[in-house]
Amino acid sequence: METVHDMQRDRAWFEAELLQRFLRYASIHTTSDRHSTNRPSSAGQLDLCDVLAAELAELGAGDVYRDASTGCIVARIPARRAGAPGPGRDPHNDCDTTIGFMAHVDTAPDFPGQGVKPQVIRDYDGGDVTLTGSGHMLRPADYPALSDYVGDTLITSDGTTLLGADDKAGVAEIMTALAWFTAHPDAEHGPLEIIFTTDEEVGRGMDNFPVEQSRARYCYTVDGGDEGSVEAECFTAYHARVTFCGYAIHPGQARGKMVNPVSMAARFVTMLPQSESPEATDGRYGFYCPIELSAGLSDATLQLLLRDFELEEIERRIAALKAIAAAVEAAYPGGSVRVEAEQQYLNMRDIVRDHPLVTDMLDRAIRATGIEPRWHSIRGGTDGSRFTQMGVPTPNIFSGAQNMHSRYEWIALRSMVRAAKTVINLAQYWSQT
Ligand SMILES: [Zn+2]
Repeated sequence: METVHDMQRDRAWFEAELLQRFLRYASIHTTSDRHSTNRPSSAGQLDLCDVLAAELAELGAGDVYRDASTGCIVARIPARRAGAPGPGRDPHNDCDTTIGFMAHVDTAPDFPGQGVKPQVIRDYDGGDVTLTGSGHMLRPADYPALSDYVGDTLITSDGTTLLGADDKAGVAEIMTALAWFTAHPDAEHGPLEIIFTTDEEVGRGMDNFPVEQSRARYCYTVDGGDEGSVEAECFTAYHARVTFCGYAIHPGQARGKMVNPVSMAARFVTMLPQSESPEATDGRYGFYCPIELSAGLSDATLQLLLRDFELEEIERRIAALKAIAAAVEAAYPGGSVRVEAEQQYLNMRDIVRDHPLVTDMLDRAIRATGIEPRWHSIRGGTDGSRFTQMGVPTPNIFSGAQNMHSRYEWIALRSMVRAAKTVINLAQYWSQT
């Protein structure tokens, strides 16, 4: 029977392991760059991948594949069993189901990620936290979730950078789960696959993913937020590009002739329904989000994100963009507007629900850590969304990260312990199927 002393020792082991790993990974600058055409988009991501590849080998990965074109890692940990293999099981485990765990090494380009100086606040007193590098305050009045962690250890940035818990917390939690198996040689698990991707934050995590290297039948991303939250549904995402062509002429001789793409693009943006913008929606409502506009007198280009949970709604949005384009063309005779839309990823729900064991196992794995799982829909996507489309159902597990992509990003060590234990539980449960 486990004693109170054992439980304290166990918690201390997890906290120490997670903290040292997370701080080490957070110190490496891995901000991705959406304007770079390189892969990965920033060299620092490879530095973290180097560290992880070496550590994976130490933690029993027999086979650590580094992809030359993307920098991503696909590592395999052979199954570990006590005694003889059970009935129907190949002694070399070839018949076993390989379960993947996935996280991304890059951090969002939306906020600086170089020179991260984490603040470790032990025995948090429930008050306001000063981010000492910038003087900003992290307040429970603004972020009530802080109040759930009084007495726990919090990690924040110093306010000058983001923290990078998205997704280095996920990386640290997966690595800690592997370290736990190394420290517990009697614990069994099935064949595992660890995948660390690059450039997730710029939407390229699964572009050119070396799918032929992967044997995972099912996978889990550890890239979610609040402790206990899990997601098996995400947006269906399209990217739209609207091109405006006008007629450029010297402004002094322009009367009746000039057709100005700058004005056309501005008109187009103001015709988007404001009530269907990211800032006006939540829950299950989708949106149009103009993200970039470049315009001159000969042409203009507007980039938009289209997001919804249903494909039919996306189709409605594309049709609406075309209707707005026609209205702008009518208002600017001689000008032309072209709308092109391409799919980025699809809602994983439709595939994941055909494999209920994947979500049942996850539900059970979280319950075993002592809390109720909370199932959400992701208002976004993960690398798991794309992996699901490639045929590997991949729901998302919380990492514990809060206020991602901002100077106010923080995480509680207790959430990280729970995420790592969830990974351990899943690895064990799947070996018993
Ligand atoms: Zn993430």
